[in-house]
Amino acid sequence: MNAYLEILERLNLTAQAQGGDLEVFSPIDGQKIGAVTQDKPADIGKIAAQAEAAFKAWRQVPAPVRGEFVRLLGERLRVHKAALGALVTLECGKIASEGLGEVQEMIDICDFAVGLSRQLYGLTIASERPEHHMREMWHPLGPVAIVTAFNFPVAVWAWNAALALVCGDSLVWKPSEKTPLTALACQKLFDEAVEEFRRAGHDIPDHLSQLVIGGRDVGQALVENEIFPLVSATGSVPMGRAVGQVVAGRLGRSLLELGGNNAMIVAPSADLDMAVRAILFSAVGTCGQRCTSLRRLIVHEDVYDVLLPRLSSAYEQIRIGNPLEEGTLIGPLIDEGAYEEMQTALKQARAQGGDVVCGGARLEIEGLEGGHYVRPAIVAMPAQSEIVRHETFAPILYVLKYKDINEAIRMQNDVPQGLSSCVFTGLVKEAERFLSAAGSDCGIANVNIGPSGAEIGGAFGGEKETGGGRESGSDSWKAYMRRQTQTINFSDALPLAQGVKFDL
Ligand code: NAD
Repeated sequence: MNAYLEILERLNLTAQAQGGDLEVFSPIDGQKIGAVTQDKPADIGKIAAQAEAAFKAWRQVPAPVRGEFVRLLGERLRVHKAALGALVTLECGKIASEGLGEVQEMIDICDFAVGLSRQLYGLTIASERPEHHMREMWHPLGPVAIVTAFNFPVAVWAWNAALALVCGDSLVWKPSEKTPLTALACQKLFDEAVEEFRRAGHDIPDHLSQLVIGGRDVGQALVENEIFPLVSATGSVPMGRAVGQVVAGRLGRSLLELGGNNAMIVAPSADLDMAVRAILFSAVGTCGQRCTSLRRLIVHEDVYDVLLPRLSSAYEQIRIGNPLEEGTLIGPLIDEGAYEEMQTALKQARAQGGDVVCGGARLEIEGLEGGHYVRPAIVAMPAQSEIVRHETFAPILYVLKYKDINEAIRMQNDVPQGLSSCVFTGLVKEAERFLSAAGSDCGIANVNIGPSGAEIGGAFGGEKETGGGRESGSDSWKAYMRRQTQTINFSDALPLAQGVKFDL
């Protein structure tokens, strides 16, 4: 059996991956790996009604019991980690260890959500009236629509799903049209966890999590539907702008996780060995296709001439190739369109005064001619021009010089996006200034760590055009619930707040 088929077979996907109208190609070599059946915009009404019915039953299940279901889901993921990780690699092209890491992230958020299911804490609030008390209660919100991008084809669903499920919500997921197979695999594992939960004697409604396969038109129909009080959408800024407006138009809530343009400041006191390693992982890892990929390197003029040659020589040594093979550090771009965008950006960078120090060209790999492999590029820029301020979803690292830390922080902030940022420095003063209210304006700010590879325990997301949403850890769960302020009078009188009198 061919190796690709075997990956599908391990997840029992071979039948579902055939005969449909949406063709799926592996970015590894452009080979067709499946054809799945798409939903139509007209199907959304029925799917939404099913999600609403599931929500009405699920919200009645005690939260710790909902947590037990998420524990079983996490167990399914543990069992199938290797197979699902390989499918992530096959379908979106990230290297094997990152494919496995993505599944590990799903497992981690399930574990986090299990604990959370006993900690959906509200507040008690002192009332100004005698023999009254006030409290804040968190209730399940409703069916949640989840729209995801190709580059984290399974983890982003899990971030949303694990939290929403313990919060008492049902789910409808529209994955990227480029990665429907990994989504089908997740749905299968979800269904297995449902069966196991039922065998253990628990009630769980049908349609608690549903999958909608298709492109933008199906996504649009989903986000327009008023049954979903929350739409969690991950993807590009133009997508978020469109979705945000539609959801705001019907006064729903949206949780937007959009593009980034992440920077690292390298100060003269930085440990350059550490900085080089961090730059490599965050700028070229996942072939520059992470929302947190390092795109701008802001280097102090005193270390610029030392750092740049070291970086170029490290770039020369990176192993680019088949992401399924051990030792490969960079796999392919997702498709031809991504390759074209990279080339256009490099052309624009040159026109805006940039000097391509290394990389940028296509790499032909024997046997994988249908894939789009590139050498990651480093481009020295005279200033933060138009193209530097734009997110190109490819491994291009723009390098800029600075003289003074305040100027570096200004440059770091002077882009429309606000996802992730970091500084490499040995000085507490510089680190703290970077982290202060007048420092980085991003949702994520790190010291002596690169901008990508966040842990699930923290809230994940960014400001400005990145959309303002927060997912994953900390108190992100609150987005999936509705807050109710309750006042209870246990006196025999009816005093009004603020001393207002209203007696007949
Ligand atoms: P994309 O915007 O092309 O597509 C994302 C999803 O949105 C897909 O499922 C797509 O079908 C859907 N979609 C597109 N237009 C829509 C519309 N009008 N209504 C409803 N759905 C619509 O993004 P992509 O190319 O898959 O992913 C790359 C982008 O995602 C990058 O910009 C990256 O930075 C961003 N991203 C952000 C995060 C984050 O957490 N901030 C994480 C991953 C990716």
